[in-house]
Amino acid sequence: MDSGKLKEIISQTENYIQNFNRFYSGSLYIEGTNKGSLQTTKELKSSKPNKEALKEVDLFGNETIKMEEWEFAESLDELNSMICNCQKCALGATRTNFVFGVGNPKADIVVIGEAPGADEDAQGEPFVGRAGQLLNKILEATGFKREDVYICNILKSRPPGNRNPLPEEIEACKPYLDKQLKLINPKLILLLGRVAAESLLKTREPLNKLRGKVHNYKGWKVMITFHPAALLRNPHWKRPTWEDMLQFKAIYEEMISSK
Ligand code: SF4
Repeated sequence: MDSGKLKEIISQTENYIQNFNRFYSGSLYIEGTNKGSLQTTKELKSSKPNKEALKEVDLFGNETIKMEEWEFAESLDELNSMICNCQKCALGATRTNFVFGVGNPKADIVVIGEAPGADEDAQGEPFVGRAGQLLNKILEATGFKREDVYICNILKSRPPGNRNPLPEEIEACKPYLDKQLKLINPKLILLLGRVAAESLLKTREPLNKLRGKVHNYKGWKVMITFHPAALLRNPHWKRPTWEDMLQFKAIYEEMISSK
Protein backbone atom coordinates (compact mmCIF):
# COMPACT_ATOMS: atom_id res chain seq x y z
CA MET A 1 0.00 0.00 0.00
CA ASP A 2 1.45 3.39 -0.93
CA SER A 3 1.95 6.01 1.78
CA GLY A 4 -0.71 8.37 0.30
CA LYS A 5 -3.42 5.73 0.59
CA LEU A 6 -2.27 4.85 4.10
CA LYS A 7 -2.47 8.54 5.18
CA GLU A 8 -6.00 8.76 3.75
CA ILE A 9 -7.13 5.69 5.70
CA ILE A 10 -5.56 7.01 8.92
CA SER A 11 -7.23 10.41 8.43
CA GLN A 12 -10.64 8.81 7.80
CA THR A 13 -10.25 6.61 10.88
CA GLU A 14 -9.32 9.62 13.04
CA ASN A 15 -12.37 11.54 11.80
CA TYR A 16 -14.58 8.56 12.50
CA ILE A 17 -13.29 8.22 16.09
CA GLN A 18 -13.58 11.98 16.67
CA ASN A 19 -17.18 12.08 15.46
CA PHE A 20 -18.01 8.93 17.41
CA ASN A 21 -16.73 10.54 20.65
CA ARG A 22 -18.57 13.78 19.97
CA PHE A 23 -21.76 11.97 19.12
CA TYR A 24 -21.82 10.06 22.40
CA SER A 25 -20.71 13.03 24.53
CA GLY A 26 -23.73 15.09 23.43
CA SER A 27 -21.93 17.21 20.87
CA LEU A 28 -23.15 17.51 17.34
CA TYR A 29 -21.43 18.10 14.06
CA ILE A 30 -23.01 21.14 12.51
CA GLU A 31 -22.69 22.47 9.03
CA GLY A 32 -23.08 26.19 9.34
CA THR A 33 -21.31 29.26 8.07
CA ASN A 34 -18.13 28.01 9.63
CA LYS A 35 -18.23 24.66 7.95
CA GLY A 36 -17.19 21.93 10.26
CA SER A 37 -17.63 23.95 13.46
CA LEU A 38 -18.86 22.13 16.53
CA GLN A 39 -21.68 23.17 18.82
CA THR A 40 -23.23 21.32 21.74
CA THR A 41 -27.00 20.88 21.86
CA LYS A 42 -27.10 23.46 24.69
CA GLU A 43 -25.17 26.00 22.64
CA LEU A 44 -27.51 25.39 19.73
CA LYS A 45 -30.54 26.33 21.83
CA SER A 46 -28.97 29.46 23.27
CA SER A 47 -27.14 30.88 20.27
CA LYS A 48 -28.35 32.13 16.94
CA PRO A 49 -27.05 30.66 13.74
CA ASN A 50 -25.61 33.08 11.22
CA LYS A 51 -26.88 31.11 8.27
CA GLU A 52 -30.41 30.39 7.14
CA ALA A 53 -30.30 26.69 7.63
CA LEU A 54 -28.35 24.36 9.87
CA LYS A 55 -27.89 20.70 9.19
CA GLU A 56 -27.18 18.07 11.77
CA VAL A 57 -24.98 15.34 10.43
CA ASP A 58 -24.46 12.05 12.22
CA LEU A 59 -21.14 10.26 12.52
CA PHE A 60 -21.77 8.45 9.24
CA GLY A 61 -22.26 11.74 7.42
CA ASN A 62 -26.05 11.41 7.14
CA GLU A 63 -28.02 14.62 7.43
CA THR A 64 -30.61 13.99 10.13
CA ILE A 65 -32.21 17.30 11.08
CA LYS A 66 -32.56 20.58 9.27
CA MET A 67 -32.82 23.53 11.62
CA GLU A 68 -33.97 26.84 10.29
CA GLU A 69 -33.12 30.32 11.44
CA TRP A 70 -36.65 31.12 12.65
CA GLU A 71 -36.40 28.32 15.22
CA PHE A 72 -33.91 30.52 17.05
CA ALA A 73 -36.15 33.61 17.15
CA GLU A 74 -36.18 35.19 20.59
CA SER A 75 -39.34 37.28 20.25
CA LEU A 76 -42.63 37.19 18.37
CA ASP A 77 -41.62 40.21 16.30
CA GLU A 78 -38.41 38.53 15.29
CA LEU A 79 -40.24 35.32 14.42
CA ASN A 80 -42.80 37.24 12.37
CA SER A 81 -40.12 39.00 10.37
CA MET A 82 -38.35 35.71 9.71
CA ILE A 83 -41.38 33.76 8.45
CA CYS A 84 -43.64 36.40 6.88
CA ASN A 85 -42.59 35.46 3.35
CA CYS A 86 -43.14 31.74 3.90
CA GLN A 87 -43.94 29.65 0.84
CA LYS A 88 -43.79 26.23 2.47
CA CYS A 89 -47.23 25.25 1.27
CA ALA A 90 -49.38 26.26 -1.70
CA LEU A 91 -51.27 28.86 0.36
CA GLY A 92 -48.25 31.14 0.26
CA ALA A 93 -48.95 31.78 -3.43
CA THR A 94 -52.63 32.70 -2.99
CA ARG A 95 -52.69 34.77 0.20
CA THR A 96 -52.94 38.55 0.17
CA ASN A 97 -51.34 38.99 3.57
CA PHE A 98 -49.49 36.77 5.96
CA VAL A 99 -51.48 36.67 9.23
CA PHE A 100 -49.09 36.09 12.10
CA GLY A 101 -51.05 36.91 15.26
CA VAL A 102 -51.84 39.84 17.50
CA GLY A 103 -51.94 40.70 21.18
CA ASN A 104 -49.92 40.59 24.35
CA PRO A 105 -46.63 38.74 23.78
CA LYS A 106 -46.66 37.77 27.48
CA ALA A 107 -50.32 36.78 27.58
CA ASP A 108 -51.63 34.20 30.03
CA ILE A 109 -54.19 33.20 27.43
CA VAL A 110 -53.75 32.34 23.77
CA VAL A 111 -56.81 32.04 21.54
CA ILE A 112 -56.32 29.90 18.44
CA GLY A 113 -58.53 29.51 15.38
CA GLU A 114 -57.93 27.38 12.32
CA ALA A 115 -56.99 29.84 9.55
CA PRO A 116 -57.45 33.43 8.36
CA GLY A 117 -60.65 34.28 6.50
CA ALA A 118 -61.24 36.93 3.85
CA ASP A 119 -61.15 39.91 6.24
CA GLU A 120 -58.05 38.62 7.98
CA ASP A 121 -56.33 37.96 4.66
CA ALA A 122 -57.16 41.51 3.54
CA GLN A 123 -55.94 43.16 6.76
CA GLY A 124 -53.15 40.82 7.88
CA GLU A 125 -54.66 40.45 11.36
CA PRO A 126 -56.55 37.48 12.83
CA PHE A 127 -60.22 37.73 13.83
CA VAL A 128 -61.04 41.18 12.47
CA GLY A 129 -64.29 40.57 10.57
CA ARG A 130 -67.73 39.86 12.03
CA ALA A 131 -66.43 36.71 13.67
CA GLY A 132 -63.61 38.76 15.18
CA GLN A 133 -66.04 41.32 16.57
CA LEU A 134 -68.05 38.52 18.12
CA LEU A 135 -64.88 37.03 19.61
CA ASN A 136 -64.07 40.43 21.16
CA LYS A 137 -67.53 40.53 22.73
CA ILE A 138 -67.20 36.99 24.06
CA LEU A 139 -63.80 37.80 25.57
CA GLU A 140 -65.05 41.04 27.10
CA ALA A 141 -68.13 39.37 28.57
CA THR A 142 -65.84 36.83 30.19
CA GLY A 143 -63.60 39.55 31.63
CA PHE A 144 -60.74 39.46 29.11
CA LYS A 145 -59.70 42.28 26.79
CA ARG A 146 -58.58 41.50 23.23
CA GLU A 147 -55.29 43.32 23.82
CA ASP A 148 -54.52 41.31 26.96
CA VAL A 149 -54.72 37.90 25.30
CA TYR A 150 -52.84 36.68 22.24
CA ILE A 151 -54.88 35.72 19.16
CA CYS A 152 -53.67 33.68 16.21
CA ASN A 153 -54.52 30.83 13.87
CA ILE A 154 -52.90 27.50 13.13
CA LEU A 155 -52.42 28.53 9.50
CA LYS A 156 -50.88 31.90 8.74
CA SER A 157 -52.21 32.08 5.16
CA ARG A 158 -55.82 31.93 4.01
CA PRO A 159 -57.14 28.78 2.33
CA PRO A 160 -58.97 29.92 -0.84
CA GLY A 161 -62.74 30.20 -0.42
CA ASN A 162 -62.35 29.57 3.33
CA ARG A 163 -62.14 25.83 2.77
CA ASN A 164 -60.85 23.70 5.63
CA PRO A 165 -57.06 23.50 5.90
CA LEU A 166 -55.50 20.42 4.29
CA PRO A 167 -53.46 18.08 6.49
CA GLU A 168 -50.25 18.96 4.63
CA GLU A 169 -50.92 22.69 5.16
CA ILE A 170 -51.38 22.13 8.89
CA GLU A 171 -48.24 20.00 9.00
CA ALA A 172 -46.25 22.72 7.25
CA CYS A 173 -47.53 25.59 9.37
CA LYS A 174 -47.98 24.11 12.86
CA PRO A 175 -44.29 24.43 13.80
CA TYR A 176 -44.73 28.23 13.60
CA LEU A 177 -47.62 28.04 16.06
CA ASP A 178 -45.55 25.84 18.35
CA LYS A 179 -42.78 28.43 18.29
CA GLN A 180 -45.28 31.21 19.06
CA LEU A 181 -46.53 29.20 22.03
CA LYS A 182 -42.98 28.59 23.26
CA LEU A 183 -42.24 32.32 23.15
CA ILE A 184 -45.49 33.28 24.89
CA ASN A 185 -45.74 30.26 27.21
CA PRO A 186 -49.41 30.86 28.12
CA LYS A 187 -51.20 29.44 31.14
CA LEU A 188 -54.25 28.42 29.17
CA ILE A 189 -55.15 28.01 25.50
CA LEU A 190 -58.63 28.45 24.04
CA LEU A 191 -59.16 26.56 20.80
CA LEU A 192 -61.96 27.81 18.58
CA GLY A 193 -63.87 25.22 16.60
CA ARG A 194 -63.69 21.60 15.56
CA VAL A 195 -61.01 22.02 12.90
CA ALA A 196 -58.57 23.72 15.28
CA ALA A 197 -59.28 21.09 17.93
CA GLU A 198 -58.84 18.19 15.51
CA SER A 199 -55.65 19.67 14.11
CA LEU A 200 -53.91 20.32 17.40
CA LEU A 201 -55.22 17.48 19.53
CA LYS A 202 -55.18 14.91 16.72
CA THR A 203 -58.63 13.67 17.59
CA ARG A 204 -61.74 12.82 15.59
CA GLU A 205 -64.05 13.21 18.59
CA PRO A 206 -67.00 15.53 17.98
CA LEU A 207 -66.74 19.03 19.41
CA ASN A 208 -69.43 18.37 22.00
CA LYS A 209 -67.30 15.61 23.52
CA LEU A 210 -64.22 17.82 23.58
CA ARG A 211 -65.88 20.85 25.18
CA GLY A 212 -66.00 21.16 28.94
CA LYS A 213 -62.68 19.34 29.50
CA VAL A 214 -59.10 20.43 29.97
CA HIS A 215 -56.87 18.89 27.30
CA ASN A 216 -53.14 18.93 26.90
CA TYR A 217 -51.15 20.20 23.94
CA LYS A 218 -47.39 19.79 24.36
CA GLY A 219 -47.65 20.62 28.07
CA TRP A 220 -50.08 23.54 27.73
CA LYS A 221 -53.60 23.31 29.11
CA VAL A 222 -56.23 23.62 26.39
CA MET A 223 -59.98 24.17 26.38
CA ILE A 224 -62.29 24.19 23.38
CA THR A 225 -65.40 26.05 22.36
CA PHE A 226 -67.27 26.94 19.18
CA HIS A 227 -65.68 29.11 16.51
CA PRO A 228 -67.33 32.58 16.43
CA ALA A 229 -67.99 32.17 12.69
CA ALA A 230 -70.03 29.06 13.53
CA LEU A 231 -71.95 31.06 16.13
CA LEU A 232 -72.88 33.61 13.47
CA ARG A 233 -74.39 30.77 11.42
CA ASN A 234 -75.91 28.96 14.42
CA PRO A 235 -76.94 31.48 17.10
CA HIS A 236 -78.36 28.69 19.28
CA TRP A 237 -74.74 27.71 20.05
CA LYS A 238 -74.21 31.00 21.87
CA ARG A 239 -75.52 29.64 25.15
CA PRO A 240 -73.22 26.59 25.27
CA THR A 241 -70.36 28.90 24.24
CA TRP A 242 -71.15 31.14 27.19
CA GLU A 243 -71.12 28.09 29.49
CA ASP A 244 -67.73 27.05 28.04
CA MET A 245 -66.35 30.52 28.65
CA LEU A 246 -67.56 30.61 32.26
CA GLN A 247 -65.79 27.32 32.84
CA PHE A 248 -62.70 28.59 31.02
CA LYS A 249 -62.63 31.67 33.27
CA ALA A 250 -63.13 29.59 36.42
CA ILE A 251 -60.21 27.32 35.50
CA TYR A 252 -58.03 30.30 34.66
CA GLU A 253 -58.81 31.97 37.99
CA GLU A 254 -58.10 28.75 39.82
CA MET A 255 -54.71 28.56 38.09
CA ILE A 256 -53.91 32.15 39.00
CA SER A 257 -54.96 31.80 42.63
CA SER A 258 -53.05 28.56 43.15
CA LYS A 259 -49.80 30.15 41.93
S1 SF4 B 1 -49.96 28.49 5.52
FE1 SF4 B 1 -48.13 28.47 6.81
S2 SF4 B 1 -46.77 26.99 5.85
FE2 SF4 B 1 -48.29 27.56 4.31
S3 SF4 B 1 -47.35 29.26 3.20
FE3 SF4 B 1 -48.60 30.14 4.82
S4 SF4 B 1 -47.19 30.47 6.51
FE4 SF4 B 1 -46.21 29.03 5.10
